[in-house]
Amino acid sequence: MSDDVLSVIPTDPRWQPDPSAAERARAVVVGLLGADDGAELELTWHERTAAVDCGENLERIGCPHCGGTLGPDWWGDLLEEHAEDGFATLVVTVPCCGAETTLEVLEYDWPCGFARFEVEVWNPECLWFTEPQLAAIGAALGHPVRQIRAHL
Ligand SMILES: [Zn+2]
Repeated sequence: MSDDVLSVIPTDPRWQPDPSAAERARAVVVGLLGADDGAELELTWHERTAAVDCGENLERIGCPHCGGTLGPDWWGDLLEEHAEDGFATLVVTVPCCGAETTLEVLEYDWPCGFARFEVEVWNPECLWFTEPQLAAIGAALGHPVRQIRAHL
């Protein structure tokens, strides 16, 4: 049994909404999904910035400095290392070329992200939210958002 999780996260990995803004965003998401969608919603606040991984959808992580590829083992180890305590910093030295960069600028295909707040939509009927839908969620939340789709 596998799950698909569509996560909506603030574009700023350090930003968190207050509970009322989060509830407004949840209400917008529920409205967008429609009454027939059996998706389950979960709001999560992370104490420190957490990785929002796309799971089995991840095909490649590219380095913008050397054009190289960062292997799935490197990413897997990184996620494991920070699974409990999150990321105090997103600064990282990449093994491909030794550049000091940040995890945010690596090229994730499919997208991955970093966040201290997530609206997780479990097994929605839609594949992605549209740009206008994301804008509506962001307006309710009080911060622009992006989306990550994970296959678990
Ligand atoms: Zn590199």
